[in-house]
Amino acid sequence: MSGAIDGQAHLGALIEPARVLRIDLAGVTRIDSLGVREWIRVSSAIPETTEIVWVATGVPMATQLTMISNFADRARIESIHVPCRCTRCGLEHRTTCADLGQAELDVRRSTCNVCHAPLGLDDDDRAFVASVLEALEAR
Ligand SMILES: [Zn+2]
Repeated sequence: MSGAIDGQAHLGALIEPARVLRIDLAGVTRIDSLGVREWIRVSSAIPETTEIVWVATGVPMATQLTMISNFADRARIESIHVPCRCTRCGLEHRTTCADLGQAELDVRRSTCNVCHAPLGLDDDDRAFVASVLEALEAR
């Protein structure tokens, strides 16, 4: 899935009988209030027997997750795309973390694809990780 999720988004294709529905969210660039409403409507229409899995959940979707309690109601969050940056050149990156409690370690193990220095989290990145962790633990 990629691009914006807004009032024009066609999410109906998500509603089909499957044992596991894995949704790769890395490419979602933003989601607005109509998109959130549509996402919740479609999610609740997915058959109960289907396991919903979010993969590479990016900042736009993860941010909604921290603000709207039923946004990811039935979803298992397999991984989060954590924003981070190169400790040398400052270039922004994303590191996919399966366990947000390990985010700092996962990020430091990754290197910049331009200058090969290790990546790191700044205060905003840490605040993002903390808020998503808190939301996931509250579920
Ligand atoms: Zn770099």
